[in-house]
Amino acid sequence: VKDTHLGRIARAHAEIEAGGFDALVLSPSPDLNYLTGYDPIPFERPTLLVLRPGVDPVLLVPELERPLAAASPVGDRLELVAWRDGTDPYEAAAGILGESAGIAVTDRLWASHLLGLQGALPGASFAAGSPLMGRLRAVKDTQELEALRRAGRAADETFRQILDMSFQGRSEEDVANDLATLLVRNGHVRAEFTIVASGPNAASPHHEPGGRTILPRDAVVMDFGGALGGYFSDTTRTVVVVEPPEGFEPAYDIVQEAQAAAVDAVRPGIETQELDRIARAVIEGAGYGDRFIHRTGHGIGLEVHEPPYLVEGDCTVLEPGMTFSVEPGVYFDGRFGIRIEDIVAVTDDGVERLNRSTRDLRLVE
Ligand code: ZN
Ligand code: ZN
Ligand code: ZN
Repeated sequence: VKDTHLGRIARAHAEIEAGGFDALVLSPSPDLNYLTGYDPIPFERPTLLVLRPGVDPVLLVPELERPLAAASPVGDRLELVAWRDGTDPYEAAAGILGESAGIAVTDRLWASHLLGLQGALPGASFAAGSPLMGRLRAVKDTQELEALRRAGRAADETFRQILDMSFQGRSEEDVANDLATLLVRNGHVRAEFTIVASGPNAASPHHEPGGRTILPRDAVVMDFGGALGGYFSDTTRTVVVVEPPEGFEPAYDIVQEAQAAAVDAVRPGIETQELDRIARAVIEGAGYGDRFIHRTGHGIGLEVHEPPYLVEGDCTVLEPGMTFSVEPGVYFDGRFGIRIEDIVAVTDDGVERLNRSTRDLRLVE
């Protein structure tokens, strides 16, 4: 574990140099967790990791959290600088950053902390560190891939089990609670999201499950996941209650076809935006283009959504070890919605599906 983190810090140093920056500043976030294994709760008191190529990493911590930081996986390899309540942490950070002029910062640095740093370092320029950290985190190592496989299997098992439950006459909230219970029973630490969108509600991709009673001839979009071993699952299936609503089946077939076409195209060397184009071409070709209102997918790992994105304009070239969702959908206002989502991993010569649940249309009771 220690070697893993030290290796990641070394790669971050190389990225900082390649990006032309003098330093990278990280606050508590998945980025900090990825590099150090230290994952405290973000607070108004700043905790800041300062990375500068050629210099040992420094972790600025509130005095009361120093023991916590010291006990973290690479705590003994970081220079810990504690600041005490009543002193100015941003002046302390400026002292650590010294002559640094070009400073990249993690996306999750609170505005209050960035403003504090800018006040203490008026001559420095600040830029987003997300391109740099996104590149580092996008390619998963073998342990990360194994964690994502486990999460995917647990989500698949959850879907298999929910099919045996009854749908009609129950509320979306009830079914969502079942999904959450099953996710945890299958090994997730907790359910992070359980979208259950029935009937006309299924036309809203991020619908919040509520009190609507599920009826026969409803389509039900279920999009659920959580963390297992620190890494996320995220899968979507659309089922119909008893029998499909009018006009549903041809659209379902097209979404299934679009999802399969994009997944089948996954291999090293192809750009992420190309996968979006492939899925979109199938849906546009069938006349549903206006109804596919979101990107085709997103990277996944320590966060549910992380780079790269399967969207026009994202030119990330796929490499073995990258993991992301493929989730085309079409939405018919007032009637129904359809989405099919699986997580996949790029292999040396193609693709590995981390979700294996059937994508054929399933009828539930
Ligand atoms: Zn979503
Ligand atoms: Zn999802
Ligand atoms: Zn997703």
